[in-house]
This record gives sequence, C-alpha cells and structure tokens, in this order.
Amino acid sequence: MTPEQFRQYGHQLIDLIADYRQSVGERPVMAQVQPGYLKAALPQGAPRQGEPFEAILADVDKLLMPGLSHWQHPDFYGYFPSNGTLSSVLGDFLSTGLGVLGLSWQSSPALSELEETTLDWLRQLLGLGDQWSGVIQDTASTSTLVALICARERATDHAQVRGGLQGQARPLIVYVSAHAHSSVDKAALLAGFGRDNIRLIATDEQFAMRPEALEAAIAKDLVAGNQPCAVIATTGTTTTTALDPLRAIGEIAQANQLWLHVDSAMAGSAMILPECRWMWDGIELADSVVVNAHKWLGVAFDCSIYYVRDPQHLIRVMSTNPSYLQSAVDGEVKNLRDWGIPLGRRFRALKLWFMLRSEGVEALQQRLRRDLDNARWLAEQVEATAGWELLAPVQLQTLCIRHRPAGLDDEALDRHTRAWAERLNASGDAYVTPATLNGRWMVRVSVGALPTEREHVQRLWQRLQAVVA
Ligand SMILES: *Cc1c(COP(=O)(O)O)cnc(C)c1O
Repeated sequence: MTPEQFRQYGHQLIDLIADYRQSVGERPVMAQVQPGYLKAALPQGAPRQGEPFEAILADVDKLLMPGLSHWQHPDFYGYFPSNGTLSSVLGDFLSTGLGVLGLSWQSSPALSELEETTLDWLRQLLGLGDQWSGVIQDTASTSTLVALICARERATDHAQVRGGLQGQARPLIVYVSAHAHSSVDKAALLAGFGRDNIRLIATDEQFAMRPEALEAAIAKDLVAGNQPCAVIATTGTTTTTALDPLRAIGEIAQANQLWLHVDSAMAGSAMILPECRWMWDGIELADSVVVNAHKWLGVAFDCSIYYVRDPQHLIRVMSTNPSYLQSAVDGEVKNLRDWGIPLGRRFRALKLWFMLRSEGVEALQQRLRRDLDNARWLAEQVEATAGWELLAPVQLQTLCIRHRPAGLDDEALDRHTRAWAERLNASGDAYVTPATLNGRWMVRVSVGALPTEREHVQRLWQRLQAVVA
C-alpha cells in the first residue's frame, strides 16, 4: 500500500469507525454466532496475490461485525467498562503510523519523555504523592507480575544474581484475599512462588480483606519458618468492587517488611474524583500500584499504568544492559526498557496524552460521576422492588443483583438466575455477566460504557424485570 492509497482507505476506515460508534446501539450487544463460524467462512491460507482493499473492508462488515460483542455499546453492562474514547483511538493510530520504538531514550526521545510527563499528570490527577513514578505496561496482569518479581528480589536481596529462588532456604509467601483477581494468582505462580506458598486471607461481610486474618497468617508462617514476602490488596475487586483496607494492611506490611502491591486496575480510575479518594486511604504505604487507564477512564486498550515508590529497585531488577543499547546520555534519562519486561515499547503515551488534552479533566470527572449516579439509581430501584436483592454494597459502578422468586431452594434459584441472564444476553438487548458469589450465582451489572446514559439504565431496569417474568 502506498501513502496515497493509505490516505484514501484511511479516510474510509475512519468513516467506518465513526459510523460504527454512531450506530453501535442498533446492533445486538452480544455476538450471536456459534463457535467456528468465522474459521468456516475464511480461506485455508493467505491469498497469493493482493486483493483490493474494498474487498477486505467488505469482509469486515460481512464476516467480522456479526462476531463481535460490542463493548462500546450503550447497553453493555458486562465485565467492566473498557472505554476507548475516540480521541485516544486517534492517538493509538498515530502511534502505529509513526512506527517508532522506545528501546532506550535515544531510540525515540519524545516517546520516553511524553510517557514520563503524561504519567506524572495522571499521578497528580489520582492524588498520588510525588514520590511515585510511573510506567505504561500492557495490562494489569503484567504490572502485577512485575510487582511480584520486584517483591521477590527485595525479600531475597536480589537472589536473581545468585541461585535465584532455587537457592532460597525458606519458601517466600504471598498473601492475597479470596476476592483478588485471577491475574494475581497467575502472577504469583509465574514469578515462581508456587501454589503452596499463596495464602488466601479471609474477607469480611463486605468481601474486603480482614487485616487481623492477614496478621494471623503472617504469624503462622513465621512460626513455620517461612518468609513472608508480599501482600496484594485490591481497591475495587472484580466481583463486587470491594475495598481492602489499605491503611491497616499497609501498617502490617511495613511492620513485617512485606511488599504491598495495590491492584486498582478497575477502581483506580475513580481516584480522579476527590470524593472517592477515601477508597484507597493508606495508598502511600504501598510499594506499587496498578491503574488500568484502558478501563473506565477511557484510554483505548491497552494502557495499564504501573506506579512504584522506588524506581531504583525496579530498574535494578529489570535492567540488563547490553552494549548496543547503551548511550552517552544514559545517566540523565529514563530508559523505559528497564522499567518492565519487554524491550520494545510502542508510543502508548500518545493515546493518553490525546485523551487528556482533548477531553480535559473536568469532562472525564463528569462522565465518571454520571456513571456513579446511574449505578446508584439502579441500586435504589433494585432495593425498593420486592423479589430483587443487592448482594454487595454498591461502592462504585458495579452492582451484584439477584431476582429471588418465592419458594425456590438454592439449586433452583441458581438455575433461575443463570437462565434469565442467558435469556437477556441472547436477546442482544443488553449484556450482563453471571458470576458466583459465596458459591451461589448472581448477576453483575457493570455500568459505565461511554454512551450509557440514564435512559439506557432505565431501559435496562425494565428489561431486567421483564426477563425474569
Ligand atoms: C481488569 C482487572 C484485572 C486484569 O486486568 P488486565 O489489564 O486485563 O490484565 C486485574 N485486577 C482487577 C481488579 C481488574 O479489575
């Protein structure tokens, strides 16, 4: 494709995206296809000769669109909001179009310095003190893996340069709550801690970690001759957006020299609202924190922000310094390859910068407040209506709900819940996530897609009442 052809088809592609965003509300929210539908429709191998771009775009419409569940749909209440503001979409285009890589500061100075600057803007917006430094990772899964590797190396005084974990006499222990995200478990396994050394700490009736249970588990490990290493607390758990008490957990972590990593992948966005900051009171006691700007905040996927309090430690753990990557200015600059796992780094800060400049902080705050209001409104309807129940406090924009007709035992209630959630999703009218809480099925409603207004939430409430009948 020549630059001239790119200009022509690029305009068409932008039109396609703009039309899609304008009319996505008319499509069924959840894909209505069966497994294998696309593989059966595509050729077995790549074409020998290039095809006209029109043919490719036509297949996007004909073959791909029916196989999408639409996250940017006003009736999308699944999983969590993964908002891609169009300003950030343009930033993502530009990043790809420029095609530059930040292997080191020298390999694209603006890439590194824009990342540093935008993450410092975001740090201030989130109310984090100036002792924090940030770096963009792809996902929270990676950020948490990096955190646990750093925790491991701090606890072992950099065993990686000796025998690694295999040279350790005492097992290192990681503490998490039963409501932590599956990526936390995965990170602990991949960082080499081993399943036997992950402790699940009990939670209270609001699904938040109990500090006294954490303290007891640490004491037990010390008696057993194990080495407590890290605790992962969550601000906004996946199932119920529960808030682990950071201050109490942080004090225990400090007293026992544990690394405290805070997973705020979802709820971190809300910290741009001063009225929500109490939710992570004690955050300054943490060693690292992850906030996914690619969720509710609205930066097109992927853009996970990892903040650390001791960047020197991170660099020491992550840095390898082959000669071909060294430069004369290394002492004066940030080489972001030393701030995480990958060497190559695309210009991800562009989409954050585009969004922050184009939307402005006030509009972002207003949108999040709109979503919080909508979630509260829906919670009020659920609470006020006979036969419906809220299963967890609505701290943010996620509701855990159940419809409980009279006379059903637990098994029958589970069947009822799963059946109506499936009916609703299959209808294409709205998309919700069935999940278990305390071993029983319920339905998560996550409010906060970009185009979701009060009228959509009102319509959802009507649909919920109709679909259980
Ligand atoms: C979404 C989420 C994750 C995982 O995020 P990825 O960026 O997809 O890895 C982890 N923790 C919490 C609390 C989340 O909400």
